[in-house]
Amino acid sequence: MSTLNDKAGFKARVLAWAKKLDVPVRALSLRQMRNKWASCSTAGNYNFNLDLLEVERDLADYVIVHELLHSHVPNHGKLWKSMMLVHLGDYDALAARLVKTTTSEKTVPQQRLPVIPFEQRKIGRNNVVETGQGVVTSRRK
Ligand SMILES: [Zn+2]
Repeated sequence: MSTLNDKAGFKARVLAWAKKLDVPVRALSLRQMRNKWASCSTAGNYNFNLDLLEVERDLADYVIVHELLHSHVPNHGKLWKSMMLVHLGDYDALAARLVKTTTSEKTVPQQRLPVIPFEQRKIGRNNVVETGQGVVTSRRK
């Protein structure tokens, strides 16, 4: 399966999903991130890990949809899960493959592991949530 191996292609993919999911995107960036695949804020700012350009397209979609849906649902509860299911199908399998990719690819730093199950993560006060590891930052009130 092909990857989204250029920034413009990746961003176009994010924006296409955003349109489909009716999610406003104010700012979108791709950057080196050591400990997570993506982060978002309720203000509509999205950051994605550059390493996502190297993973298979459906795994990138998993991270993209995961993050965008937080615009509607700031947690990983029943509503979020059912939306994930509608748009991605068996997203648990995708998440598992993403973890495997993380463990098997040399390019991905070991520090990213282990991935904490989404259910164990906390949501910050300003609803900043992150995909890929259970680090939550909350700098604003
Ligand atoms: Zn999440």
